[in-house]
Amino acid sequence: MRNDLAKIIIDEETIQEKVQEIADQISKDYKGKNPIVICILRGAALFAVDLIKKIAIPIEIDFMAVSSYGDSTKSSGVVQIKKDIDSDITGRHIIIVEDIVDTGLTLKYIDEYYEKHNPKSIKICSLLDKPEAHEIDIEIDYKGFDVGNEFVVGYGLDYAQKYRNLPYIGILKEEIYK
Ligand code: 5GP
Repeated sequence: MRNDLAKIIIDEETIQEKVQEIADQISKDYKGKNPIVICILRGAALFAVDLIKKIAIPIEIDFMAVSSYGDSTKSSGVVQIKKDIDSDITGRHIIIVEDIVDTGLTLKYIDEYYEKHNPKSIKICSLLDKPEAHEIDIEIDYKGFDVGNEFVVGYGLDYAQKYRNLPYIGILKEEIYK
């Protein structure tokens, strides 16, 4: 798999240090609040698992699956819920954990969807952000790294379902898309 990458843009150690930083901040901000951490499948799975292991306060976890780009590298803007959470979030603090914010349309949809269930608060945590690609205003409360407007893979992020298990984040060689 490493041979398919043109370069590694964020290495494993740098990711883990950042995940620890975010976990420490969440542990501080949510002390005594027992939040529900919602992992958006499948892209955020690796990040969410590492993150919750580093959070030092009681939390609950849940999972939601939404449609991704399919096998393409472009956002369709159409979001489909494939699996909903099982928890009752009414009156609860929730933290949505995403892999990457690109146009922001997925998170906007999820945020509005949860808002209807009257949680006490909603915060967004995303490992990666592509600020140049945003099509709407979106506030990320806990953010790992900004990346440029290019397609990245690894640490949960796929291309045609491949490369999710790389422990770092990189960019594929041009010829892989052909
Ligand atoms: P948005 O709705 O913000 O445009 O897209 C969000 C989703 O698109 C992410 O959760 C992720 O699944 C996918 N996505 C966006 N950019 C990338 C990227 O650079 N690489 C990969 N593998 N997926 C991406």
